[in-house]
Amino acid sequence: MRILFGIVSIVIAGVSLGANCSIDLKGNDQMKFEEQSVTVAASCKTITVNLTHVGKLPAQAMGHNVVIAPTNAMQAIATDGMKAGLAQNYVSPTDARVIAHTKVIGGGEKTATSFPGSKLKAGGAYSFFCSFPGHVALMKGQLIVQ
Ligand code: ZN
Repeated sequence: MRILFGIVSIVIAGVSLGANCSIDLKGNDQMKFEEQSVTVAASCKTITVNLTHVGKLPAQAMGHNVVIAPTNAMQAIATDGMKAGLAQNYVSPTDARVIAHTKVIGGGEKTATSFPGSKLKAGGAYSFFCSFPGHVALMKGQLIVQ
């Protein structure tokens, strides 16, 4: 019986890992995401991005967003986003390298967005990051795609 229970729990763990279709992040007043990596599946019909700003500072001073993009485009997207300004959520609206992004929020706020899992390729190099000016240096993490 003990072996059987072991097998069952492994199967359940495998299913729940393969089915993760949400990217849940917390940004704080220390200019950090609390999560360093998130794993999702390219087979997800829809992937939801949830951002909670757990700090207290306003969006003008310590705003955060989440941008999902190929890792090799991260810095360029952040640079172009800075020029786009807060009104555009620090993301150029015509930037085709951006897979998805949320709006910029301040302390105590939450936001969410979603995109099709088909925009990601399993095993690809992707990152999540904040494009608020100067934040990309610290506010970034690895998006692992299964
Ligand atoms: Zn930020």
